[in-house]
Amino acid sequence: MSEVVTKKISAPKIGFVSLGCAKALTDSELILTQLSAEGYETSKTFQGADLVIVNTCGFIDDAVKESLDTIGEALAENGKVIVTGCLGAKTAMDGGNLVRQMHPSVLAVTGPQATQEVMDAVHASLPRPHDPFLDLVPNAFGVAGLKLTPRHYAYIKISEGCNHRCTFCIIPSMRGDLVSRPIGDVLKEAAALFEGGVKELLVISQDTSAYGVDVKYRTGFWNGRPIKTRMLELVQALGEMAQPYGAWVRLHYVYPYPSVDEVIPLMAAGLVLPYLDVPLQHSHPDVLKRMKRPASGEKNLERIQRWRETCPEIVVRSTFIAGFPGETEEEFSHLLEFMREAQIDRTGCFAYSPVQGAAANDLPGMLPAELREERRARFMAVAEAVSVARLRQRVGATMQILVDSAPALGRKGGLGRSYADAPEIDGVVQLMAPEKISKTLRVGEFTKARIVSAVGHDLVAQPF
Ligand code: SF4
Repeated sequence: MSEVVTKKISAPKIGFVSLGCAKALTDSELILTQLSAEGYETSKTFQGADLVIVNTCGFIDDAVKESLDTIGEALAENGKVIVTGCLGAKTAMDGGNLVRQMHPSVLAVTGPQATQEVMDAVHASLPRPHDPFLDLVPNAFGVAGLKLTPRHYAYIKISEGCNHRCTFCIIPSMRGDLVSRPIGDVLKEAAALFEGGVKELLVISQDTSAYGVDVKYRTGFWNGRPIKTRMLELVQALGEMAQPYGAWVRLHYVYPYPSVDEVIPLMAAGLVLPYLDVPLQHSHPDVLKRMKRPASGEKNLERIQRWRETCPEIVVRSTFIAGFPGETEEEFSHLLEFMREAQIDRTGCFAYSPVQGAAANDLPGMLPAELREERRARFMAVAEAVSVARLRQRVGATMQILVDSAPALGRKGGLGRSYADAPEIDGVVQLMAPEKISKTLRVGEFTKARIVSAVGHDLVAQPF
């Protein structure tokens, strides 16, 4: 026994910092799973680490700065740093690698989805410990690997890359074209996650509605039965799989293609959450064309209204860009009007900011920064009014809440989310202390609660 402890103490330790979006998080989880399987110890701090891995984000300029600062900090504190992720794939003005140019002393730089390259770089600097004890790392989620999220929810990435070329986005240049994971693999991972205690599965990709396009919706296999690599079949299978666990399935990054209409009845039937994260970015057809957005020719307002007819409880989350190059006051007013009519429940908005390497930088009509910011603020004022009004309509309703935090078994209350709230990006439900003394709240369990008020983006509820 003492021998095992000694060996654990001497395991090489790797500090790991994960920045960026949920897709970057799943890349981090793959690397951490591999490190752990090979016997490396991992930690979230640089302290006492033999080496540091920074998984970076390169999406907008603020994220680039945060990533470069973190690399600088890791170099100053530790000295041995491997960089991976979207920023690692970015080129500098002179065509060289941006990270290498800013921080020449990093050990290695890789792009996103590069578990093997990262592991090769780790092995080169810090040989893997060959230790049968350490190779047997307990793993709650089996084939699904280690997760960075709390144990009761998990992201599942169904594809990598993107076939679109939105003019403001550099993701395809960093992550490449769409590559869908085999549907059997996705379902196997989902099964392991539910079996490991996950109560909410969040489906992510760059374009969930495009799942399977690259493999022409090839037929895969799951549990010995054929199943098409396509969003509808995947969602149906995930929903059916979640039922016995009483778990939620939530869909992110869905574009408003006609094919999505087929998924709405599954929401109405309670198979998956009636929640759709649809990044619309704008409403005016000319702006959408300049953005080269997927489904830009679709009539989004009518489509959302039809979704609501099929499934009245559907919650729509979206993101928008205000002040895109050439946006006229009339086009912007169109966006405000769309927001009022579409009644988007949850909204995020960026003022347009040029991203190095994006095609939109060459579009004519760049607006002054103050005007872009002013439009963002005007848009958010409308969006927040819509959101608050919609939240208020929930007062008096009974909702099922997934508990995220409940100190002292929730005797003084806690925090949770309803089907209308995705983790990290939406509001929360503030749970009051239960009225019944015998009632407890536990993280990762569901409770019923009566909504008593709406405060900002959140709801306050009495659990029962
Ligand atoms: S759909 Fe557009 S914004 Fe989204 S990843 Fe693809 S190119 Fe980028």
